[in-house]
Formats: sequence, C-alpha cells, structure tokens
Amino acid sequence: MKTSKLFLVLAIVSFAFASCSNNNDVAEEAIVAETADEKSAEVAALCGTCDFTGTLTEAEVASLMEMREEEKLAREVYLAMNAKYNYRTFANIAKSENAHTSAVLYLIKGFGLTDPSPVAATEFANPLFTDLYAQLTAKGSVSLVEALKVGAFIEEYDIADLQHHLAETENATVAKVYGNLLKGSKFHLKAFTNALKTQGATYTPTVLTVEEYNLILGN
Ligand code: ZN
Ligand code: ZN
Repeated sequence: MKTSKLFLVLAIVSFAFASCSNNNDVAEEAIVAETADEKSAEVAALCGTCDFTGTLTEAEVASLMEMREEEKLAREVYLAMNAKYNYRTFANIAKSENAHTSAVLYLIKGFGLTDPSPVAATEFANPLFTDLYAQLTAKGSVSLVEALKVGAFIEEYDIADLQHHLAETENATVAKVYGNLLKGSKFHLKAFTNALKTQGATYTPTVLTVEEYNLILGN
C-alpha cells in the first residue's frame, strides 16, 4: 500500500517535470485537475512525502493562512475573467490555482490547523484579499489586455510572497509545497506574458524587479 502510493506520487511528479521542461503550454501542466481537492493524488503529490509531524512556527502558520486565500484569490479572479472573455489561458490557470489552494488546505488540515477561508468561493477571511478581488476583477473587466495584465500581476505577487515564505520556512513539507507553487506561478507568469504578446501588448512588472522578471522569462 505504502509502496504503490509512493510510486503514484513519483509518477505524477516525474510527469510534471517532463511536461514542464518540454512544453510551455499551460494545458500540459500536470497538476491542473479541475476537481482537485485536498484529498486528491495531484494535491498530495505537491507535498512530496507529506510529513505532518513537527511543530510549525508562528510565521509558517501565518504563511499557510495567507497562501490558502492568495491561491483562492487567483482562482476566483481567473474564473471571473474566463466567464467574461472565455479565454483558455484563464480557464487552464484557474484549474492550476484550484490545485494550489487545495494543496495549502491539505497542509492546513495535515498539521491540524483550521481553514481560515469561508466556504463561499469569492469570500475571504483576510480583508486584503476581499479588496484585491474587487479591484482586480474591476480592472480586468475593462478589456482582455487589462485582464491578462491582472493575471501577470497576481503571479508576480504570488512569486514574491512564496519566495519570502520559502526563505523563512524550515519545515520540509511546507517548503516542498511552496517550491511547487512557486514553479507553477513562474510558469503562469510566462503564460500571461505570452498571451499579452499575442494581443500586441507588453507587460512591465510592478512587484518584481525587471531583472527578476526577465530571469523568470528566461530572457
Ligand atoms: Zn498558484
Ligand atoms: Zn498562478
């Protein structure tokens, strides 16, 4: 039982690496199951061995509470933008964000903590995310180009937060998930940048430095 579960995890992880290195299409990202909840294999794969022993620091607990809703914010903004523009990049990345917020929930429950986020999809415990949801969906409603810029902004925001949390995390399970979420965010930032290019628009980073942004794009 233990061996077969480990094999499944390894198979999913190696597939994720293979598809990421060979193909830039968001649709090919392995960890995008639309129905991924905190009990699914895709989500469990994001934390590797998923060791929930040990005590988290206050900063680690706070970061989990934040990232649970930050990933939920991304999912909900992209779903709203897809409802407006019916644009595949939003639909695909929203699935990935669903797996991300579920992975953080998996950690929250695994460590015996309480999910801070309300059940309602577009409601947040943290007022910062309530405000961001309102602002970003309003900005994205102006045009498809503005919506794609909102997407790139959210990814920059996620990357900066995940890098910050990774630096202060000593727990290997939490670090593993944040590392995978960070990889996903970089991939998404590239996807939004490419989508903007196809619309004849360019993106200027506002959270990351131009150097950091270019490094992620591989320029
Ligand atoms: Zn994410
Ligand atoms: Zn993302």
